[in-house]
Amino acid sequence: MKCLRCGACCRHFIVEATIGDVRREPRIDRECQILDGHGTILRQQASWSIACGKTSPCPFLRSDNRCDIHKTKPRECRQFRPGEALCAEARQAERARKVLLAGKGKA
Ligand code: SF4
Ligand code: SF4
Repeated sequence: MKCLRCGACCRHFIVEATIGDVRREPRIDRECQILDGHGTILRQQASWSIACGKTSPCPFLRSDNRCDIHKTKPRECRQFRPGEALCAEARQAERARKVLLAGKGKA
């Protein structure tokens, strides 16, 4: 399946970025949360949460549903395949979000 560029996968999943991803794209460190650091683990061992779920999409998702760091995005994002089960799950979650917003008069 061809990607529909709906942005659902960037709105509904947490992406775990590794230190290698952060070295390639320093904006991840500046703009995203460390997952489980609690200040006690070395930054070099940390991983970063770069998408936070239904109410807060990935900070790099642009309003046209393109990725603002496309060329340097995390490996997890590179490996995501349109048409596979997670893509379908994300699109279903996005449909549910839109129904909810429509119910609140925000769609
Ligand atoms: S959810 Fe699937 S179709 Fe939509 S942007 Fe992601 S990969 Fe493409
Ligand atoms: S980094 Fe780009 S591809 Fe990955 S979740 Fe964010 S917007 Fe989507």
